[in-house]
Amino acid sequence: MEIRWSGSTPGTYDTAVEKKAVALLSGGLDSALACELTLRLGFQVVGLNLATGFCVGQGRCDTVLALAARLGIPLRLRDVGAEFLEVVRSPKFGYGSGMNPCLDCRILMARTAGKVMEEEGASFVVTGEVLGQRPMSQHRKALDLVAAESGLGERLVRPLSGRLLGPTYPERMGFVRREDWLDIQGRSRRRQLALAREWGLTEFVQPSGGCCLLLTKTYAVRLRDAFRHRGTEALTAEDFALLRYGRHFRLSPRVKVIVGRDEGENAVLAGFSRGRWALAFPAVPGPVALVEGDPSPEELELAAALAARYSDARAEDQVLVRATWDGEARELSVVPLAPDDPRIGRWNLGE
Ligand code: SF4
Repeated sequence: MEIRWSGSTPGTYDTAVEKKAVALLSGGLDSALACELTLRLGFQVVGLNLATGFCVGQGRCDTVLALAARLGIPLRLRDVGAEFLEVVRSPKFGYGSGMNPCLDCRILMARTAGKVMEEEGASFVVTGEVLGQRPMSQHRKALDLVAAESGLGERLVRPLSGRLLGPTYPERMGFVRREDWLDIQGRSRRRQLALAREWGLTEFVQPSGGCCLLLTKTYAVRLRDAFRHRGTEALTAEDFALLRYGRHFRLSPRVKVIVGRDEGENAVLAGFSRGRWALAFPAVPGPVALVEGDPSPEELELAAALAARYSDARAEDQVLVRATWDGEARELSVVPLAPDDPRIGRWNLGE
């Protein structure tokens, strides 16, 4: 990595370059504090928010914008969705409790921040990682691994736990003393919340708010199912997105049904109908449903009967279902499956 600097000992550096950092901002408390502390230590900071496409925190983006405005720092926004999908498909360091490839994700984020560091003429990257806060990605070995694999080494700085970790570039250059970093560790957020109060920081998403779709049980079950039945490489970005919406049912190795749960989801599912059978209820209020795969006529009828279970049709009555696929339309007359049909539970993915 080429860094613009003019010497290796304090006093011979280009101050403007050396005292500038790029801070990764997620919208969470820890990254906000790490950024604030870096500013308090006299560094110029550029904020960086990376969009993976798997974020679930309400208003995270707005929070990052508000934080940058409050701190008076420029903010860079970058979409890493395509690279992130590659990481999700085949993480070098595996998954956590869900389908969360946290180590590979942090390496990708640090590596991307390193590129922005070069573009910005900064000399190090700041993150809000806290030693011991997350079992998979924030123990000591994991933090060191991310620093090494991202290529940043001692230029990857975690100010909230800095006193407990190895020496960093700003320390070696004499910009900060070791004791300027904090020594926070563990899962409790008590010290961070106290610091936020002391520093008047309110622009962060509450720590309990969750952050990543890949950590959720439902999404993880659906993604594993999709990988198993379609292979990791066949899934498109649209397929990953569709796993978020509706109820998902695996009818057979080659057929899956997705049923909207409300008007909002019905509208979203209608937008995913290309390349899938779309089921609608012309005679009674009912959901939009999609059928993936290559269903036989019997499987399409079964999918319609399953979708009809979530319509306003009475359980014992025949109901009309219109099935369309790429210009082809079929009218099916089906009896809705009974709500207590045991197959529904067996087919259901993740609820
Ligand atoms: S929880 Fe999601 S966003 Fe956070 S590090 Fe893990 S994979 Fe990345």
